[in-house]
Amino acid sequence: MIIATGTASGKSLAYLLPAATEIFQGGSVLYLTPTKALAADQLRALRRLHLTQIRAATFDGDTPAEERRWIRQNANYVLTNPDMLHRSILPRHASWSSFWRRLRLVVVDECHGYRGVFGSHVAQILRRLRRVCAKYGSRPVFLLASATASDPAVAAMRLTGLEMAEVTRDASPRGSTTFALWEPPLTDLRGEGGAPVRRTATAEAADLLADLVIEDVRTLAFVRSRRAAETVALTARRNLDEVEDLLRAGPHGQPASAFEDVDEYGELSPYGPAHLHGHGGRGGGGRGDLASDVGADAAADVAADLPADMAAGLPADVGVDGRDLSRPEEGGHHPGDGGPDLLGPGRLADRVAAYRAGYLADDRRMLEKALRSGELTGLATTNALELGVDVSGLDAVLIAGWPGTRASLWQQAGRAGRAGQDALAVLIARDDPLDTYIVHHPEAVFGQPVETIVLDPDNPYVLAPHLCAAAAEIPLTEDDLEIFGPAAPAALDDLVERGLLRKRASGWFWTSKERAADLADIRGTGGAPVQVVEASTGRLLGTVDESSAHTSVHAGAVYLHQGETFVVDVLDLEAGVALVTAASPDYSTFARDVTDIRVMESSRSRPFGPGELHFGSVEVTRQVVSYLKRRTQSGEILGEEPLDLPPRTLCTRAVWWTLPADALVPLVSDSGDGTVDLGGSAHAAEHASIGLLPLFATCDRWDIGGVSTELHPDTGLLTVFVYDGHDGGAGFAERGYARATEWLTATREAIASCECERGCPSCIQSPKCGNGNEPLDKAGAIRLLDVLLPR
Ligand SMILES: [Zn+2]
Ligand SMILES: [Zn+2]
Repeated sequence: MIIATGTASGKSLAYLLPAATEIFQGGSVLYLTPTKALAADQLRALRRLHLTQIRAATFDGDTPAEERRWIRQNANYVLTNPDMLHRSILPRHASWSSFWRRLRLVVVDECHGYRGVFGSHVAQILRRLRRVCAKYGSRPVFLLASATASDPAVAAMRLTGLEMAEVTRDASPRGSTTFALWEPPLTDLRGEGGAPVRRTATAEAADLLADLVIEDVRTLAFVRSRRAAETVALTARRNLDEVEDLLRAGPHGQPASAFEDVDEYGELSPYGPAHLHGHGGRGGGGRGDLASDVGADAAADVAADLPADMAAGLPADVGVDGRDLSRPEEGGHHPGDGGPDLLGPGRLADRVAAYRAGYLADDRRMLEKALRSGELTGLATTNALELGVDVSGLDAVLIAGWPGTRASLWQQAGRAGRAGQDALAVLIARDDPLDTYIVHHPEAVFGQPVETIVLDPDNPYVLAPHLCAAAAEIPLTEDDLEIFGPAAPAALDDLVERGLLRKRASGWFWTSKERAADLADIRGTGGAPVQVVEASTGRLLGTVDESSAHTSVHAGAVYLHQGETFVVDVLDLEAGVALVTAASPDYSTFARDVTDIRVMESSRSRPFGPGELHFGSVEVTRQVVSYLKRRTQSGEILGEEPLDLPPRTLCTRAVWWTLPADALVPLVSDSGDGTVDLGGSAHAAEHASIGLLPLFATCDRWDIGGVSTELHPDTGLLTVFVYDGHDGGAGFAERGYARATEWLTATREAIASCECERGCPSCIQSPKCGNGNEPLDKAGAIRLLDVLLPR
């Protein structure tokens, strides 16, 4: 069964009651969540019930070895995540035998987070789980809980492989939420190619957060990258310090005017943190970052258009130390103690902090506790928290940048206004075509069903390693094939041919000494995370995905941790370590790359206007070759430094469109309205279409990449590719193919409705362009799409 209803509608109760009932009758329960934080939170909720029969325990990467033994033998309510199930619990199923025998209920919480490649992996892990249960004679009920989703039963069936019933009617009482769509103004600053630059969503979020903290409104600010979380917290704290200093200074400091000054001061450079959006979290739909401690920074980085988060850097004067969380705060503000005690003990600024995946477990727990206790009033977070902590009693939610899906938007907005209270939610647009489109088209958000959960369990890159893992758990037989779906027989043949599995009369066997589970990288991070270590002290600051290490912690990169700035001395890919040194450079860094795409196979195609639309397999090769240093305040380029990093190859799926030369004749022959730069037009259309695809494909801009060219060697035509940024594909490009007309029409509309003259980040510039946003032709892109789109 799947329950798909809004945040705080009582889903936990709906699975806790049957879970408790099963346990009273001698059964056991397995609870799965994408994040450690949510498991910890659920454990607290369970303990509050004071039911001594429930012996509940979390089982994750932080669980000490001695506790693990106790849990395997005694716990009857185990809270864990798909990563642990995959790497530890299923491979060592024999030591859990008594647990399996009694297993009656599997709760899959926050299952809308299981989408794309990650979701496809989880689908296979659940199939392995079903097989292990069968071996021990149990046939548990699967109870899935999800945010509202279109066709939840269909998605749940793809996820579990089982027939599913759905519950979607939400009768829980709620207060009303005031929802604001907020577009930051254009500034006088000029960015790439002289484009006007909007005030950044992070700068606006920081100001709003400070405003709300002053009003004692408990607020969560969701931002899209680690660095943006740090920046928002830092800027809000700085704003609050300014206000407090003025207030303390005496009668001339009027709070209102003081705050206006701060507003100016809070402006961020166009090349500073603004360009950081992007990264954070495996996707707006919440791929959930905490469970593995590795998944936070996107695999999305494989895209040709570079992720921006390497561009970060704070003005040198922002070097406020990160708060020392190990020191108990004195005089923290507590709710109910008489309103905003503005000038009480303890600084206002200390009521604001940043939270993100990649922090070490102790730091995270400290922050969660402070927010729950009310010691913190404002918290800036990546969507690591989106699936996590049950933070009740929030009054407002700021969402800096479209979170990727309507489901995520409602999930995040739903954090505010629990217990029937009214609430405030603000979506702050980033300088980005999708965000621009949405704040100008509220009908794209309100009154629309949420997205279908897109996943593809038949992706051979996903299926094959899980077949190996399954064979290592219990040798595979013909009878098992059905559970793994129609792609399984061919995948098994291939594994036998590659010598990974051995076929015998009784079935398929894993005979290697290696751990089969190591073959599947379920968060799609492309390898072990790179540890970021301070060279002088050996202190571990955090981790970065292997796939994003090339762009974010290459030698010379500026790296930010808890408000401190570091410069990377050396990136050792083999050792998986980046050594950094604290520094205060007045520049940020921005990696550049060279990308090549080859068409391997067009599996579907159809005429599209005068051109053609294709969906198929491609091979993308990308190499980070250099990085730019840009002065933080002015954006001035200080220089380009070469890098020596290996190329990365991605075999994936793409949607692409072509236009024949004769269709382009009217564009290139000067017919009075000016000729267009075909390459620049295609490039601009590509950028904007990458920006808009998430509206149709339940993905994140950072999950996909693109390549455009006036003449591609494989097609012989003007071609624009948009591809899934994951080996084997994730279903996003396929959705683009299926909904191409709506997708590209919205793309044209987003470009045309931007008020800039020649292109800006709100329409055709991409924050992750590996070509430095050159060349781009805004008017040409509109004309090109007019030629392409079927009439
Ligand atoms: Zn624009
Ligand atoms: Zn580009």
